[in-house]
Amino acid sequence: SVPLSFFGGIGAASRAGILIKGSNYLESLAQVETMVFDKTGTLTNGTFSVVAIHPQSGVDPDLVLSMAAHAEAYSDHPIALSLKQTYEGEIDSSHVEDVVEEGGAGIRARIGNRQVVVGNTRLMEEEGISWSGCELMGTVLHVALDGSYIGHIVIADMIKSEAIDAITHIHKAGVEKVVMLTGDRAETAEMVAQKLGVDSYCAQLLPQDKVSRVEELLKTTSEKGKLAFVGDGINDAPVLMRSDIGIAMGALGTDAAIEAADVVLMDDKLSKIPFAINLSRKTVRIVW
Ligand code: ADP
Ligand code: MG
Repeated sequence: SVPLSFFGGIGAASRAGILIKGSNYLESLAQVETMVFDKTGTLTNGTFSVVAIHPQSGVDPDLVLSMAAHAEAYSDHPIALSLKQTYEGEIDSSHVEDVVEEGGAGIRARIGNRQVVVGNTRLMEEEGISWSGCELMGTVLHVALDGSYIGHIVIADMIKSEAIDAITHIHKAGVEKVVMLTGDRAETAEMVAQKLGVDSYCAQLLPQDKVSRVEELLKTTSEKGKLAFVGDGINDAPVLMRSDIGIAMGALGTDAAIEAADVVLMDDKLSKIPFAINLSRKTVRIVW
């Protein structure tokens, strides 16, 4: 049976915009020891702006952006949305074919009779294409056309304004280890991790690597301690399910993430997380 005050706790949470899908999760929240965050869209806004375009010499920068925007024609990844927004020309998607999007890597597409590849160094390596310009800050998208490197686009995302406070309060609420996982490059991840004050981070992860990292972290979490994962993306569903408590962003999060989650933050506000932990502690204490 479920103690009455648990319903009170779940009700109070729901009035605060936190949907808890069962009293067992309310109880688990009181015991969170390890909290793992996805970076893009969770700790950062997930809306990128194009900072710079660096074409190879002799290449028109508009070609680099145009090819990238066309290749992303059918994608709704935050990176794709920002590229399409920056590209001012019209995107005729009827010429975009054979699109293959690889989570945590990028996209391959045929545009007319040309082959375009847009993504990170991992994808370039897979294609056997050498790149340049990785000393830059920000997220770097490399672009190749018909097997040749034509340049890169630097995009930048912003840390959510309330993220630093939220991490501080999560630590204060007694969570021992705050970890950030991302598919983004190490340089960008390090900068974000440092600004936020997380205890550790892991970069250049593929979606399945995030699951393995969470499995390792579950092993280092004490027997009565719980692991919570907070994410927003399609690729986050497997990790959300693998964690003791999966927490999803409800406003901008994908349906797959919301479905897979145990707790949903209706307005994506990270401050709701320390609030939920403190509320669960109070509720559980009443019961005990
Ligand atoms: P995160 O783990 O931060 O949520 P993702 O796993 O979605 O990020 O993406 C990781 C990296 O993979 C991105 O930083 C980018 O380099 C590359 N990538 C993923 N999807 C795309 C795409 N549609 N177009 C270009 N690059 C992409
Ligand atoms: Mg993500």
